[in-house]
Amino acid sequence: RVVVVGSTNLDLVVTTPQLPRPGETVLGADFRTVPGGKGANQAVAAARAGATCEFVGAIGSDDFGVRLRDSLVAAEVGVRGLRTVPGPSGVALIAVDRAAENFIVVAPGANSALTDLTDDDRSAIAAADVLLLQLEVPLPTVVAAAGAARAAGTTVVLNAAPAASLPAELLDLVDLLVVNEHEAAVVAGRDEPVDALLELVPRVVLTLGARGAAYADRSGLRLAVPAPRIEAVDTTAAGDAFTGALAVSWAERGEAAVERTLRWACAAGAACAQRAGASSALPDRATIDALHDA
Ligand code: ADP
Repeated sequence: RVVVVGSTNLDLVVTTPQLPRPGETVLGADFRTVPGGKGANQAVAAARAGATCEFVGAIGSDDFGVRLRDSLVAAEVGVRGLRTVPGPSGVALIAVDRAAENFIVVAPGANSALTDLTDDDRSAIAAADVLLLQLEVPLPTVVAAAGAARAAGTTVVLNAAPAASLPAELLDLVDLLVVNEHEAAVVAGRDEPVDALLELVPRVVLTLGARGAAYADRSGLRLAVPAPRIEAVDTTAAGDAFTGALAVSWAERGEAAVERTLRWACAAGAACAQRAGASSALPDRATIDALHDA
């Protein structure tokens, strides 16, 4: 059982031959709307990977909110902790040109209103094996959720994305930190980040794109696993697929199976990178197993 406390956004994506300069209007081509936000993506990733998953987050009172709720329900993510707040849902305005260069403006909307946890949220966190957190909702909420998990013995997994330097009051509650190379450098505040990170948290997973992932903990254990060799089509959300699957495997098998968990999460990330799209490309359990066993 996994609980995610985090963000949900609707991505409004337009492709265009070239990105506009300030003040310029360009004629775009395809337009699509895609449910996103790191929190919701990781919740969907965990549910598709086979966990019972609950999502605690906030949508706005607009049509986008209905769409976001529906997409979580369709993925069989539990939405008892999803509140509707007056005002707009979170959106990301994304323009992508032919060279896959993009610009992105995120308006957090309702995600900013996720400012406190209910008793039901705390009970769900206490009943879970793993609480999965990111940094797209207000930091005090992230800290409160981690505190509720620690008090109940629920494992706290923090994906420190988007990259930010973090206060000790949060780091002290983290059991496992998941970061890519950029996030690792920002959280650690220096290069050679893994040793620095182990001074802050007891366990670190570093994702390395096509090179796979590495694990280190304070007992001195160091592991590196390669990613499955695949034809990468679109790596958007690969990190979310990886993190969601990691939480599921950790919840099911615990710390003793960390090497298997790392390989399986890499299979999930690679399976996502094989397909175009973001949340739509998050793999199901059979797909992850097939790539893991190949
Ligand atoms: P992020 O997208 O958060 O920066 P990464 O690029 O490190 O994260 O990707 C997350 C995981 O997805 C990697 O650890 C790896 O398992 C998988 N992955 C990403 N890109 C590829 C690729 N080109 N080939 C195989 N696996 C990949």
